[in-house]
This record gives sequence, C-alpha cells and structure tokens, in this order.
Amino acid sequence: MKIRIDLPQDEIPTEWYNILPDLPEELPPPMDPTGKAFELLKKVLPSKVLELEFSKERYIKIPEEILDRYLQVGRPTPIIRAKKLEEYLGNSVKIFLKMESYTYTGSHKINSALAHVYYATLDNAKFVTTETGAGQWGSAVALASALFKIKAHIFMVRTSYFAKPYRKYMMQMYGAEVHPSPSDLTDFGRELLSRDPNHPGSLGIAISEAVKYAEEHGGKYVVGSVVNSDIMFKTIAGMEAMKQMEIAGEDPDYIIGVVGGGSNYAALAYPFLGEELRKGKIRRKYIASGSLEVPKMTKGVYKYDYPDTAKLLPMLKMYTIGSDFVPPPVYAGGLRYHAVAPTLSLLMSKGIVEARDYSQEESFKWARLFSEIEGYIPAPETSHALPIIKEIADEAKKSGEKKTILVSFSGHGLLDLGNYASVLFKE
Ligand SMILES: *Cc1c(COP(=O)(O)O)cnc(C)c1O
Repeated sequence: MKIRIDLPQDEIPTEWYNILPDLPEELPPPMDPTGKAFELLKKVLPSKVLELEFSKERYIKIPEEILDRYLQVGRPTPIIRAKKLEEYLGNSVKIFLKMESYTYTGSHKINSALAHVYYATLDNAKFVTTETGAGQWGSAVALASALFKIKAHIFMVRTSYFAKPYRKYMMQMYGAEVHPSPSDLTDFGRELLSRDPNHPGSLGIAISEAVKYAEEHGGKYVVGSVVNSDIMFKTIAGMEAMKQMEIAGEDPDYIIGVVGGGSNYAALAYPFLGEELRKGKIRRKYIASGSLEVPKMTKGVYKYDYPDTAKLLPMLKMYTIGSDFVPPPVYAGGLRYHAVAPTLSLLMSKGIVEARDYSQEESFKWARLFSEIEGYIPAPETSHALPIIKEIADEAKKSGEKKTILVSFSGHGLLDLGNYASVLFKE
C-alpha cells in the first residue's frame, strides 16, 4: 500500500476550474449602490482578474508563466494517506490528505498569489499591495512578487507586525516592504496614528491602506480569498487531486476542509463537486468547518454584506456575522474572516455543502494528537478539520461501512508553535 500519491510534474493540470456555469442557480451579483466601489476596483485590480471574476467559461487555461512558477514552488503537491491516524480511529475510514502545506510558503495561498501578481505585471503595474493579518497571505504575495520581479508593499496589522515577527522576516527575505498598519503612507493611516501612535490596527484598516496606496501611486491591489477569481486560481489543488485519486483508485465519499474566506475548501472541493452538479446527482458528502469563535457558517445570516470592514468594496450575498464583527483573538488567524465566499454560501444555502464549527481548544488538542500520531504539525487553521474526521470515523464504525475521506491539508504549523503553546502549554 502506498502512503504517498505523487502526480508527476509533467502531468500537472493546465486548466483552472470555474464553478459559475455549474451552480444550481445564478450567483447573486455584487451590489454597489453608489457605483463608487466598482470604479475603485477597475482602477486597482489587475484588469484580467476583474475580467475572470465574471467569466462563465468552465475551464480557464493557465498561462505558461504561472504553470512554470507552480512547478517551481512545489506543485503538484502530494496526497498523503494518513494510515496511522486510520489505525488510531479503528480502521473505519481511509484518510487522504492533499498536502498544500508542501508548497514553499507552507499553505495553499501561493496558488492564487502567483496568478494575481502575474496579471498585475501584464498591466505594467509599478508594484502590488495587499494586507495581511497573521502573515500567511502576505508571505505568499511576497514570494509571488519576487518570482515575477515586481515590488510588493504589504500592510501588516500593527499588533501582528510586532507580536509575530517571523512571517515579517519571511516577507523581507523575499524582498517585500512590510509596513505596520496603520502606517504613515496613507491619509487614513496618518489620521489614526495621530490619534493613537500605538494604534493596534485591524484587517479592515490594512485593506483600506493597501487599496488607497495602490490607487494613489500606480500599483495594483491583490485580493486573497472570497472572490470567484481567487477561488478559480486555487482550484489547481482540486484539479491535481482528481488525477491523484484516480491514480490511487479511490473515489472519496467525503471531501472536507476548513473555511476562512472559503477559498481553501472550495479549491479542493469544486472540481469534484462540479462533476456531480453536471450529472445532476450528488453522492459525496461535502463538509466544511470553521472556528466556533467566528461562527459565520453555523450562526451567520445569508444576506448582502461588505467583504471588508472599511466598506470600500461592493456588497456580496454571503453567510456573514457582520463586517463590523470583531473576532476574539483566536490563534487560527486565517479563520477570523467574518463571511463565506458567495459561491460557497450559495451551495450551503442549498444544503449541498454542510458546515460545522469547532472550538480552538478542541481543534488544538486534535492538532497535538495528530502531530504525535502522523508526525506532521498542522497549521492551527488546518486543525479545525480534524474533528470532522473523528466524527465521520465514528459514524462509519456504527454503520459498518468503510468510508473514504479527502481532506484539504491547508498548511503546516511550524511558524505557529507559539500559538499552540498559548493554548496547550499554559504553565
Ligand atoms: C488562510 C488560511 C486558511 C483559510 O483560507 P481561506 O482560503 O480564506 O478559506 C486555512 N488554512 C491556512 C493554513 C491558511 O493560511
């Protein structure tokens, strides 16, 4: 039996998948009552990204330049069979992990960062900007910018900038300029700093600064999750996984993963789900999980809301707990987002994708157990998928039917050990 299922580099998929044409109904369009948000997006987004956002093509050819960088940063990623965890759970399930943690920045985020940054260079942008909280997205954009030889300005939430220096060093190793936000580079940032020189910052403030700085100085702004184009770029993971599961001779009964804005889960699940939506018959179970402390999926409302706290961007119809929601300082930074991607929200509202939320305490205990059993340390975000595996295994044991689970293993936790320590190793 094989533990590791590799896809040879010359068999890397050459197309991204777009779920829009296969959705059970039309996606509710973005809403922009003043028209100002669309104007702003036209100015600051790479033009090709804006075009692809509304594309109805099912498959989009991946430009050679991006494929080339995918191969450079560790794609195709392997699928690993978690055999020891299977044994621990009583051999009632087969567990296949799609290891997005094997990319150079340690998570799935590089998959879309490369595309956004490449398209920015096609517009002859002077530089790219983005925001980052815990730093995973910022480090992916920093690497993508290094590989496409364009300057990156990363606005990092001030508290993280000082409390979590390692992601910052990583971005600096890639040549990015990292600014604590609020910064003195925008009017908004300067105003906040004049009121409080130690302003802690927030993702919303960092987004506003990144957008404004791009708008005012000839840069392009890079969006990290939630929107259709970003999910499409990340489907390279799911496209690979379809080939790998075929190589393994397995068809998953369950496809699971965690949701921050939703792109990680959607990227793995959509190519599989699209196949079933076209057939009109859905056999597999699709389960996405999130943080109980930020329960947009299980306690949120499906309605139009702003994707950003600063309310600069068009409103989207999605499950949300409100763009003003201030998440508790949970350590799975990537799960703190207040809403769920519009396509994933639509699928949840139809009962096609099921949602479950787990507490940080429970997820982190699973992370430690998983580390001991499998020998691999998951990202705090990724650990929130582990309780689903346990629940499926228990059900399978009861029914006596062995089930196959495919998991999006979104990242490793080697830069997040301090986060685990704060919860698990309190003295
Ligand atoms: C950002 C992040 C997530 C959440 O990703 P979304 O695409 O926003 O849902 C999950 N896991 C890891 C390791 C992350 O860095």
